[in-house]
Amino acid sequence: MSRGGGRARRLRQLELRVARLEEEVQWLRRAVEANGESLGTLAVGPCPKCESGVLVRHDDDLHCTVCGYTRYL
Ligand SMILES: [Zn+2]
Repeated sequence: MSRGGGRARRLRQLELRVARLEEEVQWLRRAVEANGESLGTLAVGPCPKCESGVLVRHDDDLHCTVCGYTRYL
């Protein structure tokens, strides 16, 4: 039973890793889409406010593509 438990724990850890990777891929896809929206924009990282949006830089400001968070540099 203890061996079975260890295997289940490993599977659970793998599931968590896959879930994290899926989130990362989805975020990267949004970042690529944000970059394609207009010239001069550059995805710089995840949004600090909603954490699922992409923070893009355009000239002297940063803004989130999801929640509208804006920050001027
Ligand atoms: Zn946001």
